[in-house]
Amino acid sequence: MATRLGIPDLLGSAPMNEHVVQEGSTPLMAQYLEIKAAHADYLLFYRMGDFYELFFGDAVKAAEALDIALTKRGKHLGDDIPMCGVPVHAAEHYLEKLIRKGFRVAVCEQVEDPAEAKRRGAKAVVRREVVRLVTPGTLTEDTLLEPRAANLLAALGASGDDFALAAADMSTGEFTAGAVTAADLAAELARLGPRELLVPERLLAEAAFAPTLKALAGALTPMPSVKFDSASGERALKSLYRVAALDGFGAFSRAELSAAGALVGYLELTQKGKLPALKPPARISERTFMGIDAATRRNLELVETLNGTRTGSLLACIDRTVTAGGARELAARLASPLTDVRAIRVRHDAVAFFLNESDLRRSVREDLRRVPDIARALARVSVGRSGPRDLAALRDGINAAQALGAKLAVFDDALKPSAGEAQEARERLQSGLTQTRALFERLEKCLIAEPPFLVRDGGYIAAGAHPPLDDVRSLRDESRKVIASLEARYREESGVSQLKIRHNGVLGYFIELTPQHAEKLQSARARELFRHRQTIGSAVRFSTDELATLAGRIAEAAEKALAIEKELFDAMVSDVLGVAGALSDIAGALAVFDAALALAELAQEQRYTRPRVDESLSFAIERGRHPVVEAALAAEHAGPFVPNDCDLSREGGQRLWLVTGPNMAGKSTFLRQNAVIAILAQMGSFVPAERARIGIVDRLFSRVGAADDLARGRSTFMVEMVETAAILNQATERSLVILDEIGRGTATFDGLAIAWASVEHLHETNRARALFATHYHELTALASRLDQLACVTMRVSEWNDAIVFLHEVAKGAADRSYGIHVAKLAGLPEAVVRRAEEVLRALEEGREGHKPLARIDDLPLFSVSAPVRMADGKASAVEAALREVLPDTLTPKAALDLVYALKAMLIKT
Ligand code: ADP
Ligand code: MG
Repeated sequence: MATRLGIPDLLGSAPMNEHVVQEGSTPLMAQYLEIKAAHADYLLFYRMGDFYELFFGDAVKAAEALDIALTKRGKHLGDDIPMCGVPVHAAEHYLEKLIRKGFRVAVCEQVEDPAEAKRRGAKAVVRREVVRLVTPGTLTEDTLLEPRAANLLAALGASGDDFALAAADMSTGEFTAGAVTAADLAAELARLGPRELLVPERLLAEAAFAPTLKALAGALTPMPSVKFDSASGERALKSLYRVAALDGFGAFSRAELSAAGALVGYLELTQKGKLPALKPPARISERTFMGIDAATRRNLELVETLNGTRTGSLLACIDRTVTAGGARELAARLASPLTDVRAIRVRHDAVAFFLNESDLRRSVREDLRRVPDIARALARVSVGRSGPRDLAALRDGINAAQALGAKLAVFDDALKPSAGEAQEARERLQSGLTQTRALFERLEKCLIAEPPFLVRDGGYIAAGAHPPLDDVRSLRDESRKVIASLEARYREESGVSQLKIRHNGVLGYFIELTPQHAEKLQSARARELFRHRQTIGSAVRFSTDELATLAGRIAEAAEKALAIEKELFDAMVSDVLGVAGALSDIAGALAVFDAALALAELAQEQRYTRPRVDESLSFAIERGRHPVVEAALAAEHAGPFVPNDCDLSREGGQRLWLVTGPNMAGKSTFLRQNAVIAILAQMGSFVPAERARIGIVDRLFSRVGAADDLARGRSTFMVEMVETAAILNQATERSLVILDEIGRGTATFDGLAIAWASVEHLHETNRARALFATHYHELTALASRLDQLACVTMRVSEWNDAIVFLHEVAKGAADRSYGIHVAKLAGLPEAVVRRAEEVLRALEEGREGHKPLARIDDLPLFSVSAPVRMADGKASAVEAALREVLPDTLTPKAALDLVYALKAMLIKT
């Protein structure tokens, strides 16, 4: 671990060593404090020689977060100054840790040569400036980023009572803006998933925003409200795109200008003026994407599970991409399913094309595997943070893209009429390749095959690329050869065959002898030739005029070579920036190819079919499946997934289905699978069904499972009601609604009453296509009064007093809930099960007019008075076995097996 314990060690390497801190503010401390004051919200990485140092409170926080030693350095106003530091060469690793822990960092560099400062006077402090603010939404380093996830920066703008959200991805240059209301904000943020959101300070306190903003925690960056001024926003955008008016990009509202302007301003601030190549902002309207609120996203486990892991999510289940850019594209599509029929069909066309051309698909996917992350390398180049390896990534990316383009060219005739977005991507790729041909040739000629990470040490420019560089390099190499030949000559002259010429960072080149041999150099001639430089325990070191001259020449040549390499690097960087748009087109096209190919691969592998998507109000799914549950069953060898139909179409179907059936019968799975199929269809994927016709779903609502929202301090029932209210208030004829067991979180009768009223409202007022799962059989009575309501039930078969789940959806209603059967499967003690059966019978009779409680009072208490015991008073084998059972850990299958095992024991006894 790179911490230093002693101050002397630090002073040895720092150029400021002449200013040891004493009482009061030294010039160095004064400079530090001034810079720190301007960046109070950030940990200040203050460059001193080969280290970034942190002082005072920053040091205490960083030392703890990084698990490095906290030391002190001198005194400030009489107190010790806490200090810790990280070596510059390993800084990225520490930055990563700090960012993950929610810190933001200001990186302050020395911006002049220490020698220059000295010229200003012995007390002068090296000039330093903050060159970058490291915040979650503005990261570019691969070590700090998730390769397969986007890293969005968003800003919430305001103008009067209008609000807007702008979002940008530095790696793709994608930039969007759109109106948002306080009510929609949470849903829109859930769709975008920004790593950082800029908000005007004044909105933090507003009741309509506070809960949503608070939930963002570390991703929230409050800024002074003046930064969101829409007039300055407009000016900033005009100057960024060098246009006199923004009309060409669309008609932006004041709020959109406020958001987009604040975002651009923040990028300028954090990147210290160097902006990534942002595309002109695209306007997003609420019609662009299927509306999916935050709760529905969570409930359907689209990109992460309820436990917050990617594994087990729909995204993880369907992702067959082979590049990071493709993975980000696919994730973005899943997060934002489209509502425009044409745009969706264009995506389906591409999937269909690649599904058909399976040889082409395989071979292009092989090529794609070798494509580096062009978008992120380009982002680093744009903000001046790239190294030779980024240029090599661009070179290799273009190269792979060229091969791919050539391969696709063969298919041009087939692509044209029918391949949808594959054809569009092909054109984009081609134009990108044409514009980057010169750049590619230059990179190919100038860079070595596998260049180092850093510019600093040189050694990345290929031999033969630039004659002047070759000249200084050969000068350097010649001198090295001369030095090697010197060794032989000096051995001869001194008569010491063990004499060596060596090199280190401090002395440069020197002649080394052991102390005994050194004594032999006492001759006058030898003493004249060899000048003593240093004696250490095991060696005596000398130099000669000749060696010094050669060494000087080598150093000079090396320095010159470095300078030339840097110059060539800068020239290549500016070449890259000159065609940034074309490179981003290539990256974008490759991502589209990867996503389309991956969806085709998935369709082939999992037998997905092309859905028919249109403007109708149909929703007809034949033999649909839930991809995640199906995969889980397959992984556990737990039998096949049972496909099910669902028809909520206006024509021929009934648009509201009431789904009954016992627990564990598959109700929730059925509901979710239909929602998932709608999402997959509209994101441009094929769907896990034999046939599907879907009239565009404008908004998807779900209320699934009992997701406790303890984090936000609401009870399960409250969450349930909040989500239900949102649905009943907002769903329209175009929406798809999934309601799973609402009313469950409260007592039977008011729960039933709420469920009852909700079904009526959905049917009469919302008129949405809807699936409603419930354990309240009473609701099935509604079927006779509501003509668009159909009752379906999950079939079970009763067998030997046990039930078997068939997972089949059938017309009709469950006649009872089988709750006690399920309890039995779960291993509830026999006595409890029997008692429950008694109570149930009493309750059912009670419903028919008797007083249930009186009847129950009459029932003997089995569990207390008559436990099943062996005649000798010992517990039975069945009891003993039951005692071992942990019902919560049983899978349905294990529960069923248990029943058989218990039954077998009964027969034995
Ligand atoms: P419910 O909501 O009725 O209690 P779930 O939908 O949670 O039931 O399903 C319980 C379990 O049954 C699932 O975890 C899955 O293992 C299995 N299951 C559900 N639907 C199917 C199906 N169509 N085919 C096979 N197994 C299924
Ligand atoms: Mg359920």
